[in-house]
Amino acid sequence: MTSPKTVLVVGGAGYIGSHMVWLLGRKGVDVVTLDNLSSGHRDAVLHGEFVHGDIADRQILDKVFRKYKFDAVMHFASFIQVGESMQDPAKYYQNNVVNTLNLLNAMCAHGVDKFIFSSTAAIFGEPEYSPIDESHPKRPINPYGWSKLMVEQALADYDRAYGLKSVCLRYFNAAGAHPDGLLGERHEPETHLIPLVLQAASGRRPHISVFGRDYDTPDGTCIRDYIHILDLAEAHWLALQYLQSGGESSAFNLGNGNGYSVESVIQTARRVTGETIPVQEGRRRLGDPARLVANASKIKQELGWQPAYFNLDTIVEHAWQWEYSHNPRFAKAS
Ligand code: UDP
Repeated sequence: MTSPKTVLVVGGAGYIGSHMVWLLGRKGVDVVTLDNLSSGHRDAVLHGEFVHGDIADRQILDKVFRKYKFDAVMHFASFIQVGESMQDPAKYYQNNVVNTLNLLNAMCAHGVDKFIFSSTAAIFGEPEYSPIDESHPKRPINPYGWSKLMVEQALADYDRAYGLKSVCLRYFNAAGAHPDGLLGERHEPETHLIPLVLQAASGRRPHISVFGRDYDTPDGTCIRDYIHILDLAEAHWLALQYLQSGGESSAFNLGNGNGYSVESVIQTARRVTGETIPVQEGRRRLGDPARLVANASKIKQELGWQPAYFNLDTIVEHAWQWEYSHNPRFAKAS
């Protein structure tokens, strides 16, 4: 496999992007991060150069593309909250679709023809079967999912018409943190289950709310497929090498293939942290399917991807290490 030399990482200051930038650094790739810092953190960019800017701004894009010769672009800069996308679809279509097209158009204008796209399991909508493979019907049930599916469609057309090659990676639930404690999840506001459970364990929050116990699952709580952030980053690295070696445009579902219920995540967190973790029973969250589990056979077979941190305990341990080291309560105690 051929490796890229220089890569533009858009959204490299965010949770997934920052782990990717770190991994690219380890692989010896020159990286430029472009991020508007709307939700990312400058200090999370541990490698390469940093440009503060927005993909909506064509002038900045032209400047960056003129200055560096990129082999590929990776795009992590999107809004990700399903609930928010129902209330404010314009925000999602503007940034996740329109601004992404601006980025793709700049790439085409500057002759950069390889693109790795952060897609999502939300493009599939309500699962018709489980685990979900790539040929599962794509019927999003919220604007977030639609915004990602629209870009997937645009990418198919851009390949046919302009020769832009892309890999779409449909993430299930990205979770965990860097094993050495260098990086972790810092969303504001935080909406994801694992960091919220751990904030309840560390005392930053009074409890964790369980959003529904009346689903058609063994313990009544929703089942998700949690994939470790470094396994996710590794999949991107394989996808980059694949495109760099002349691979055709493709799309892969990316999860570790194991489903865990909300209840089992809380039990695991209790075991890992040794804390009680108070629970409050909440109502179902709008748009939550009962079960979302990936069939990741395609990426395993075609790109040779293998998750290294497939065990939920390890994922929660790494996330706990991050929460613990960033919690003022523990800082005072040590
Ligand atoms: N969840 C929950 N309480 C919370 C946050 C999430 O019970 O405070 C549930 C949510 O309903 C879903 C699962 O945890 O079933 C994972 O949610 P998350 O927001 O982490 O990821 P999503 O599956 O929405 O991408």
